[in-house]
Amino acid sequence: MGESTSRIAIVGAGLSGALLACLLGEAGHHIEVFDHRRDPRKKGFAGGRSINLALSARGIHGLARAGLAEVVLADAIPMAGRRIHSPTGRVTFQPYSKNRGDTINSVSRGGLNMALLEGAQKYTNVRFRFEHRCVDVDLQRPSVTALKGAGGRPVEFDVDLVIGCDGAFSVVRAAMQRLDRFDYSQSYLKHGYKELVIPPTLTGDFAMPADGLHIWPRGGYMMIALPNNDRSFTCTCFWPFTGPNSFDALTTEKDVRDFFTAHFPDAVPLMPTLAQDYLANPTSSLVTVRCAPWFHGGNVVLVGDAAHAVVPFYGQGINAGFEDCVLLADTLKEHGSDHERALQTYYVGRKIHADAIADLAIANFLEMRDHVASARFRMKKRTGRMLHRLLPRWYTPLYNLVSFTLIPYAEAVRRTRRAKHVLRIAGVVLVLLVLAAASWVFR
Ligand SMILES: Cc1cc2nc3c(=O)[nH]c(=O)nc-3n(C[C@H](O)[C@H](O)[C@H](O)COP(=O)(O)OP(=O)(O)OC[C@H]3O[C@@H](n4cnc5c(N)ncnc54)[C@H](O)[C@@H]3O)c2cc1C
Repeated sequence: MGESTSRIAIVGAGLSGALLACLLGEAGHHIEVFDHRRDPRKKGFAGGRSINLALSARGIHGLARAGLAEVVLADAIPMAGRRIHSPTGRVTFQPYSKNRGDTINSVSRGGLNMALLEGAQKYTNVRFRFEHRCVDVDLQRPSVTALKGAGGRPVEFDVDLVIGCDGAFSVVRAAMQRLDRFDYSQSYLKHGYKELVIPPTLTGDFAMPADGLHIWPRGGYMMIALPNNDRSFTCTCFWPFTGPNSFDALTTEKDVRDFFTAHFPDAVPLMPTLAQDYLANPTSSLVTVRCAPWFHGGNVVLVGDAAHAVVPFYGQGINAGFEDCVLLADTLKEHGSDHERALQTYYVGRKIHADAIADLAIANFLEMRDHVASARFRMKKRTGRMLHRLLPRWYTPLYNLVSFTLIPYAEAVRRTRRAKHVLRIAGVVLVLLVLAAASWVFR
């Protein structure tokens, strides 16, 4: 191993922690990964917040860096567009892109985590410590204190660098929040989410086409569904917690059946256990977390949701998290033992883009919920695709820049704003030319 290898504690063996363990393991660092869960490889994956997720270009790039893209994509289901369900049950398909290869990919969250854990386990210098709950981090030493096993015996680990990959409610970040001049904000949507299932048909087929992301937009609330490998769909209801058309409004099986029959009529026959599932499954909240800075000296740094949890409506949470992992691994390599420089370079390189995707995710929530079904929205998307086809070098829709390229998020936003500005000017010039021509003809 080279001179610049370090002892690194990664807190969290979720998606970003496990990818980082692969990348830093490969670089020869001595890695200890802590997670309070049981080892999912031994006990079978106990589930998590959502059963599947959409992986796109950025996530695939991160996996490719760990040599895992092919194995993960082999089990993925490509989704080439949105399938919009109207209140009467009519379904229309809106492709994401003019390019056939531009798809987002539905992958099993558990399967992805497992592939990453197995990928990291190849390195003898990576050690997983499951059933270790991190309870504190000493930012100066630095060290991690964890409670081990069911008895909760406290154990301490001194390392050179602590990386917080422990999600939106990060304990590593909580330690940093005690520092002077550490910025932190969290904001919850008034909407939460609940997961339901559309099982395979009796003949073992998908109950709906599996080539797209299904959306039932209803203005103010919506349901979506992504296909799974076992030919089921995971549906997610994004509704307000309280008020009309809310989770609180449905308290009996009859309420649930009546509501779904009125608002999602075509889904009801496909969901035989709808009412029981609805009442049994939890309703969870959706939070955006922003903080700054993401590092403390050369000792501690945050990655993934621990640094920037975003709401899931652009399908970019872990895609952004994997971009963090790649950049952090690269900056640590570039700056060797100068961890402080590496962490600062990583933070400066990512913060502006994490803020950009947080804003885009909230804007996309409103778009998916309220606009995707409207004629105006469809016309806008069609115009975007047409411009992309006619002027591919000059115009690419924002969704495509975010989902199908590696162009940094804030740069994607900037390019889209600039293109829209030019389009507006071109529109005005066109109108003036038409008016001038008309006045010349009719003079
Ligand atoms: C409903 C929903 C749908 C989503 N859909 C998508 C999507 O389609 N595409 C997408 O890219 N993203 C999606 N996301 C976002 C994505 O799930 C997150 O961005 C991603 O899981 C973040 O990964 P992470 O590894 O940073 O954190 P997490 O997945 O939260 O992992 C954190 C890990 O840390 C461990 N941990 C936590 N605290 C401690 C502790 N004190 N001690 C030890 N271990 C600890 C946990 O057990 C866990 O293993 C969705 C999110 C939600 C809620």
